[in-house]
Amino acid sequence: MNPDASELQRLQRNLTQVKDRIQTACAASHRPDSSVALLAVSKTFPAHDVALMAQAGQTDFGENYVQEGVEKIALLKQQGLSGLTWHFIGPLQSNKTRPVAENFDWVHTVEREKIAQRLAEQRPAGLAPLNVCLQVKLSKEESKSGAAPQAVEALAALVATLPQLKLRGLMTLPEPGKEAEEFEQLNALFETMKPHYPDMDTLSMGMSADLETAIAHGSTCVRIGSALFGART
Ligand SMILES: *Cc1c(COP(=O)(O)O)cnc(C)c1O
Repeated sequence: MNPDASELQRLQRNLTQVKDRIQTACAASHRPDSSVALLAVSKTFPAHDVALMAQAGQTDFGENYVQEGVEKIALLKQQGLSGLTWHFIGPLQSNKTRPVAENFDWVHTVEREKIAQRLAEQRPAGLAPLNVCLQVKLSKEESKSGAAPQAVEALAALVATLPQLKLRGLMTLPEPGKEAEEFEQLNALFETMKPHYPDMDTLSMGMSADLETAIAHGSTCVRIGSALFGART
């Protein structure tokens, strides 16, 4: 078998397994499968793997590093692969907002006003509004980023007024061991905010190891890397 055909088979198998896990988790919570979107996290994997995963039927991809993501998006466009939706899910510094505003469809990691303002200014007028999730820091860990829960309402109120941004929801990265507790806290915050923001429909939480817990606590978008593409080296 040629290497592409066996690589495609491997990715197809992984995709099916992850979709089965999502389905089982949705059934356990009496939720329709369609209530959870699958975001394939392709960071560190080559554009070629994205192309094969797209061939297997996956449309949404997530990247953590600005330059790596922008290069992959450009390469795939050059190769004629269109119709993919790109999500930026990594830490975003204010001097890197422009390429994100110009190349991505979503940003899951907006955590302060300055970043939101720059993204709004830099989003090209010819493109659809950039979809934004606010990253919330529920963990006490120093290493985690995100807005403090008590700062989220003010940030949301600002983002909702900015042109070229669409406030879609909330995102978090939980502290290991506290997944259930922090996912539930984010879900509660999401439910209190949703009635005030008409475009809010996305609760971005859950990765390869904890997607079941995330779905049990209301996730509408799981971000899955290693279970789809393999271990990152
Ligand atoms: C890497 C990463 C993921 C995917 O993690 P896996 O454990 O490989 O599924 C999801 N979200 C964010 C923010 C990440 O950085």
